Amino acid sequence: MKIEADRDICIGAGMCVMNAEEVFDQGDDGIVVVLEADVPPEHADAAARAVAGCPSGALRRIED
Ligand code: SF4
Repeated sequence: MKIEADRDICIGAGMCVMNAEEVFDQGDDGIVVVLEADVPPEHADAAARAVAGCPSGALRRIED
């Protein structure tokens, strides 16, 4: 699984970091930073939860 984030849509709510801190971080401006765009299998469930829980729809999941 791969993850894409649209930093123009992100509102900095931080839900993605709470759901998957290995995959996401927030920059100084609060906007999402993807740490692992190519998500390893052990983080796939957490990353999927983060995508589903993002309130702005900024995250997109791309299946391999
Ligand atoms: S959950 Fe969505 S809106 Fe919140 S920081 Fe992550 S990408 Fe941005």
